[in-house]
Amino acid sequence: MGTLEGRVAIVTGAGRGLGRAHALLLAREGARVVVNDLGGSLDGSVDGDQDPAQQVVEEILAAGGTAVADHEDVSSFEGAGRLVARAAETFGGLHVVVNNAGILRDAFLHRMTEAEWDAVIAVHLKGHFALVRQAVAYWQPLAKAGTPVNASVINTTSASGTYLALPGQANYGAAKAAIASFSIVAAAELGRLGVRVNAISPGARTRMTESTPGPIGELMRAPVAPGALDEFSPENVSPLVAYLAAESTTVTGRVFAVRGGEIQEISPWALSPERVLRSDVDWTPQQVAEGFEAVLGVDDLGTPATA
Ligand code: NAD
Repeated sequence: MGTLEGRVAIVTGAGRGLGRAHALLLAREGARVVVNDLGGSLDGSVDGDQDPAQQVVEEILAAGGTAVADHEDVSSFEGAGRLVARAAETFGGLHVVVNNAGILRDAFLHRMTEAEWDAVIAVHLKGHFALVRQAVAYWQPLAKAGTPVNASVINTTSASGTYLALPGQANYGAAKAAIASFSIVAAAELGRLGVRVNAISPGARTRMTESTPGPIGELMRAPVAPGALDEFSPENVSPLVAYLAAESTTVTGRVFAVRGGEIQEISPWALSPERVLRSDVDWTPQQVAEGFEAVLGVDDLGTPATA
């Protein structure tokens, strides 16, 4: 018997890449899966010719699993509501939400358009909020009526924006850092309903990372020696998702970097007790300047390290 027998899961952006790997593994572990994907290109524009969600459903069915395709846009609040309703109406419940859908619209800030900012924030940050909000609207009345909920939300953050400042990704990094914070706050709030919330920061070879210029793209495109651990296979990320999704798992409010061979916790924002400038009187700019370098330290341009 699989570890997710009896669970109903939604995986967004599950037509390709990481979402596809998550959906296939969750189904193999016995979950009934709603495979959501609108079939967009990397920048989020919709070509409409392909139906990757249906292709993944067919793979799941061929392997003896249970799944249904869904084509809602996760950045639509109403669409997220219909997605939750589809899970509940098709499979009679909802226990696992994997927020994974994502796009990229990289640009340096002096060129980034309002549309590039809005689209990335909409799919990632609003998309995460919309589906969690709609799922909570489903779970909250159950919890209130005394029905045990035992649900799990797995959100998708990134190295970009959390522990890596990648130039050209101010929109994406900001959305991803906000998703990590959203996950921690949501976990603190939703525990009383029986809902756990965690986030993963994956590292995997997908169209998103293979097309990245520079060392990240090169790393992803590098051949894997026969018999060696495939560090960047998307299938090496999904087992953590399946673990976090399980009814017996109690982990909540945590953020994990994950790739083949390594799962590492990402520490949340924290005060630095060893870097505190104190005063018994009102601050003046001069007083801040005098104490700053000695206690808080300064670097050249205040520029954080990049990859
Ligand atoms: P991908 O482009 O292969 O897959 C993303 C999928 O999301 C696509 O199939 C796309 O059609 C779908 N999608 C996009 N917008 C959508 C929307 N509005 N509604 C529904 N579906 C939508 O990319 P991936 O690498 O598999 O990325 C998956 C997630 O992991 C993303 O959130 C990404 O930011 C994150 N991530 C990936 C990596 C990595 O190493 N690949 C690293 C950090 C974070």
